[in-house]
Amino acid sequence: MKSKTSNTQGHPCFECEGGILLPVREPFTTHTSEGLEITIPEMPMERCNVCGDTVLSGEATAYVNDYLDRAVSRLSREELQSFLDQYQLTQREAEQILGLGEKMIGRWLKGPFQVSASISNYIRVLMADPGAFEILKARKWAADRTKIAS
Ligand SMILES: [Zn+2]
Repeated sequence: MKSKTSNTQGHPCFECEGGILLPVREPFTTHTSEGLEITIPEMPMERCNVCGDTVLSGEATAYVNDYLDRAVSRLSREELQSFLDQYQLTQREAEQILGLGEKMIGRWLKGPFQVSASISNYIRVLMADPGAFEILKARKWAADRTKIAS
């Protein structure tokens, strides 16, 4: 009697009689919570060898979440804090320089709010390039003069 140790064998198809769902990896397009369209190049899916019906495999959700985390990778709280440390900014100063609403930084540092993907990119550029930070910071006079803090 042979033991059934292999779970790489396909499961029976839900759609047809007799078909077997076999693992395939194919491009799959989805949307992030910011509405960004993202195509995952090698999505784990299963396709029926008889009717061609395709389903996402059991590991798909974890795979998508990992992929999205890497693709839109948001700034962690530690990274946000190291941005403040790098330029020796108070939270309020950082909000003024970045053009953020009051208390935004505090909300991100304490949670539960998460820095958006676009602000994450923005802050990463500023961390990587002190010259870019100085350019942005020097623009502060414009906000002071017009009293428009948007
Ligand atoms: Zn089928």
